[in-house]
Formats: sequence, structure tokens, C-alpha cells
Amino acid sequence: MLRRLLFAVLVAAALAPRTAHGQRVFPGTSRDTALVTRLIVLGSGTPVPDPGRAGPAYAVTYGTRVFLFDAGAGVMRRVAAAGLPIDGMTAVLLTHLHSDHTLGLPDVIHTTWVMGRSRVMPVIGPPGTSAMVGHLQSAWIEDVVLRTEGTERGRRGGQRVDARETTGGIVYDSAGVRIRAIPVPHGGWPVSFAFRIDTPDRSIVLGGDTAPSAALEEASRGVDLLVHEVYASTRVAPEQRPGGDLWPQYLREFHTSDEELGAIAARAQPKQLILSHVLRMGGTMEEVLAGVRRGGFRGAVMVANDLDRF
Ligand SMILES: [Zn+2]
Ligand SMILES: [Zn+2]
Repeated sequence: MLRRLLFAVLVAAALAPRTAHGQRVFPGTSRDTALVTRLIVLGSGTPVPDPGRAGPAYAVTYGTRVFLFDAGAGVMRRVAAAGLPIDGMTAVLLTHLHSDHTLGLPDVIHTTWVMGRSRVMPVIGPPGTSAMVGHLQSAWIEDVVLRTEGTERGRRGGQRVDARETTGGIVYDSAGVRIRAIPVPHGGWPVSFAFRIDTPDRSIVLGGDTAPSAALEEASRGVDLLVHEVYASTRVAPEQRPGGDLWPQYLREFHTSDEELGAIAARAQPKQLILSHVLRMGGTMEEVLAGVRRGGFRGAVMVANDLDRF
């Protein structure tokens, strides 16, 4: 019996599709594909190139569907580390086009192709998304020609994505999964989003980058998981550089302080508050958590780390 099982496993491994690079692709075998919703933190970082935190990126999975939210630096390494398929996602959704949230976009577009993607993958984001995707595709055009025309014989057209721009509202609604883009204030960005994801078993809000937002607070009322950015209120001070006197104003207009977040969460009452994209500015995570408590939130709160699963 055991020998027969071993034989079946070996045959399956031999028959598993390979990409042009000999990488075997086992879609869904290394992860939970039951109809339960999972949030996986792929990158909990900020623009700071912290080796322990990849740039902002989160996966929400439901069954075999994988939704990628933001594509910070290092994203495909984290997708692989999380055991998620490396040959494409159901959809890629961008909160906004700040570089820390999009530096991994060419990685997502091209690596999924090199690893076997043939489907045209939707990339949904604010106005400007189509232009960004177009520029990225022109930037790597020589690579695409060489990989398809050369001896590598890459899958022709597999690098294509379908860039879709939105200004908010329902951006995905299919077979039990509904995703809504919620416009939030993020300084000078004309359109920046939080996303609310509803599935049969879970409600999740990913706040993106945002100053305090009434719309985000309303959307977060009683949700299972609220992932929110935050900065350390105790560390706000002008910086010693040209223009550094504007730093406190920048923080106020673009981001949410720990005390502000504590007040928002106290009103919205998410079942679990998860801090990510934390601007500590020399402070500790304990200081930030203390700020959230000063703001009035008494519920469950924790700091996200890369590859955490909820
Ligand atoms: Zn950011
Ligand atoms: Zn931003």
C-alpha cells in the first residue's frame, strides 16, 4: 500500500508541469485550498529597506483563488515562501501607486510568466495603473522578445496583463468573493484605496496607506480583520534635512498615528486589529501599541510580520 502511494507520488511529480526553467509547478498542493478564507502577510514593510520586512503586499485566498493586494519589493520571493502559486494570481489589486507598493509589480508581471503563466492577469488599481503597466511592459520588451524568440522558447504573450482602472466601488464579485475599493485620503494622491473583502466566512479590510478616514472606519465596523498602517505619534519631529520641517505635516496628511488609529478602532470595533506598514521612526513596536491603547482601543491588536497567516 505504502509502496503504491509512493509510486503515485513519484508519477505525479514526474508529470507535474514544468516552466521553461525546469521549475515544477504544483498548483495548490502546498497550501490550504479548502473553502476557507486566509489572509497571508507577504510584506509588512514600508519604504525602509528592512531586510526582515518585504514591501507592502498581502494575499487573500479562498479555495484555489488568490488575490494579491499591493506588490512591494520582494513580493514574488514571499509568494513562493508562502507556498502560493508562482504562475499567477486570480487578480492583482493596487491600493495606490506609491513606489513602496508597486516596486514588485514588474516582478509579479514577469516572474509569473517565466514560471508558467499563460492567462492574462487582471491588475486593478487607481487611475494611472494602465500607464504604469504600459511603461513596465515597454521597459522589459527586450527581455520578452529574447525569452520568446530565443532558445528559451517562452510562452508567447504570457506576460500580458489586463490593467483596469477604477475610482472606487465593487471591483470583483464572483462565486462568493466580493471586493470593494474604498477611496481614502492619502495626501496628494488623487485616488488611493482601502479594500474590503467579503467571503462566506470572513470580512477583511486592508487599509492601504491612509490618513484617518471616515469611510474606512465605516467599512471596518465589526469586521473580522482590520489591517491598518500606523506611525509612532511620540516620534513626530522635523527631520534634519532640507525640507525636513515639513515631515510632521507630511505624516498628518498621508498617514494615521497610533493614537488616531486607537480611536478609529475603538469606534469601529474590528475583532482583530493588525498593525502593518509601521513607521516607527526610531521608536519601538511597544510604543506604537501603547499609542493605540491611549487612543482608546481595548480589543485584540497585534503587529504583522511577513508570512503571518490569519
Ligand atoms: Zn506606503
Ligand atoms: Zn503611500
